[in-house]
Amino acid sequence: MIPYGRQSIDQADLDAVRAVLESDFLTQGPAVPSFEHALSALCQGAHAVAVNSATSALHIAYLGLGVSPGKRVWTSPITFVATANAALMCGATVDFVDVDFATGNLSVEALTQKLSQAEVNGTLPDVVVPVHFAGVPCDMARIHQLALRYGFKIVEDASHAIGSSDTRGPTGACCFSDATVFSFHPVKIITTGEGGAVLSRDRGLTERMASLRSHGITRDANLMRGEPDGAWYYQQLELGYNYRMTDIQAALGLSQIKKIDTFLTQRRFLVERYHRLLKQLPVQCPAIEGLNQSAWHLYTVQLHDASIRGKTFEALRLAGIGVNVHYIPVYLQPYYQDLGFRPGHCPVAERFYQASITLPLFPAMTESMQDRVVAALKASLDTVPA
Ligand SMILES: *Cc1c(COP(=O)(O)O)cnc(C)c1O
Repeated sequence: MIPYGRQSIDQADLDAVRAVLESDFLTQGPAVPSFEHALSALCQGAHAVAVNSATSALHIAYLGLGVSPGKRVWTSPITFVATANAALMCGATVDFVDVDFATGNLSVEALTQKLSQAEVNGTLPDVVVPVHFAGVPCDMARIHQLALRYGFKIVEDASHAIGSSDTRGPTGACCFSDATVFSFHPVKIITTGEGGAVLSRDRGLTERMASLRSHGITRDANLMRGEPDGAWYYQQLELGYNYRMTDIQAALGLSQIKKIDTFLTQRRFLVERYHRLLKQLPVQCPAIEGLNQSAWHLYTVQLHDASIRGKTFEALRLAGIGVNVHYIPVYLQPYYQDLGFRPGHCPVAERFYQASITLPLFPAMTESMQDRVVAALKASLDTVPA
């Protein structure tokens, strides 16, 4: 089976992990701050807090921005459930904004309309979470304009998009947002096994998130209530979590981030090649005008005839092609149906889902593997009766 995504691990990664295993610190040692510095350097100096998953990163970002019962968080339905779940974990109310069919990204027009309606109803959101689907950046400048007008905060879910950029700079620099979240799950651009990070330009927010990562505990005497009892002393100032990344993971991340340009080059090469090879087929390919602005976590196409998506998917799996589907609109999940969401809430997202197939894409994918994927897709589209 050619998988839809896969990590690339080389000898340098193995050596980096081994060095930590043979060192004094498996966790809370020097590798985590080193990895955070590398992330910060990649993101024009935004401060980084490394954690054990992007889900944890979203949770502490939302908490840090005051998300709590009674607050409203809006996001895209074309995302992994974690984006919305983390807001529910804060006790907030979640709602979904429809997407653009061409990109699967949150539609600025749909957002604009929903905001003006919410202003009338007194239900404006506190935080809006654009998701850079497949790595293609959302139109952050325009979303930021709306944030200024309506007074909401922005968290970018850039789980797909470490290495992406727009005209203002790299994704993660937080030019138009309060915080940006990355994931280092093995199918993503770089990996730490499990892992994530949140970046922000706001030092106060960063310190708060770092505190929430580790039980709300501080060893900084300046932050304590009263005087420390002694050199051993720490204080818990709020209720936090154990969301720490280990040094084993951070060493892997540090080794991986050094290779990010190679990974991105290989992904972009394959995306450009898919674009050429699929030209004659009845599928909508992602636009490649902004080829170098996306990290290309995923290569998702939409079949012109959505009614044959199921059969095409099965034929490709039978042919040994590990296709996938991104994403089932979050609010169609039974858990969200129980919260009162109904089919039809975001019609474009539902059409996008129904037509989508994600083809394999990962740095070690060879041209001959890619040719096999394209041949199998072509064969199935030729034989599946409409
Ligand atoms: C992978 C992913 C997450 C969750 O990442 P974890 O590191 O597995 O917690 C969140 N949002 C999106 C869009 C993702 O793709």
